[in-house]
Amino acid sequence: MAATDLAATAPARREALKQVLAQARACTRCPELAATRNTVVFGSGNADAELMFVGEAPGATEDERGVPFVGRAGKLLDQLLDEIDLTREAVFVANVLQCRPPGNRDPLPIEIENCHEYLLRKVELIEPTVICTLGNFSTKLLRGDPTGITRLHGQPEVLTLGARAVRLYPIFHPAAALYTPRMLETLREDFARLPELLALGAPPQPPPGGLDDPPPAIELDDRPPAGELDGARGLEDSPPRAAVEGEAPAPTPTPGQLGLF
Ligand code: URA
Repeated sequence: MAATDLAATAPARREALKQVLAQARACTRCPELAATRNTVVFGSGNADAELMFVGEAPGATEDERGVPFVGRAGKLLDQLLDEIDLTREAVFVANVLQCRPPGNRDPLPIEIENCHEYLLRKVELIEPTVICTLGNFSTKLLRGDPTGITRLHGQPEVLTLGARAVRLYPIFHPAAALYTPRMLETLREDFARLPELLALGAPPQPPPGGLDDPPPAIELDDRPPAGELDGARGLEDSPPRAAVEGEAPAPTPTPGQLGLF
């Protein structure tokens, strides 16, 4: 089934994401990351989200729990969401890398390239209206341009990713703002503009089949062996990971919403 067909219904979207999750969990494209990770941090939130955040890479807490943005930067993200009356359950949060770089070093170009297809697949399936890039790595990757976040933050632009146009909104990374009050103030101001951006709805879309050279549906490697999906936590109706592991109280999934992986 083509990706555009898959995106038509929430259950199909969820099923397709489960397959991508299973592939990610078995991924060994980056041998060092595969050998040192505790979990693959696929992403968490709502499979039908209008708003998607893309950070950099999991840190130690995220690697332990398998959920993005659950450390100090994540607490700040939660707080900023709360200030605009949004919750983690309403949005989808992912990263440029799904595995923690050892010692929290910067992602390597080859690692970013290896993981890019997973990110594009999530975007293709979730079909967010607004993608908010957090910091330099995700902003440079999705814009395909080295311009830094200091110049770009707070300036929405329409970007075509795969077959769809989205509103890209670069803002500072919460981790960078944790210790810099002025950056935090700017981050808060940029965040405050998210509701008006969401209210604009989807940008005009490229005409179906109207591109001279239409991008192919993004395909990952072959489907995982049968049985691997059984271990895909968070996409089934089982309790979200945080609840399973007795960590911070986890939200109860509602219909149409992915739990926390
Ligand atoms: N920083 C990120 O970029 N991603 C996380 O998941 C956590 C911290």
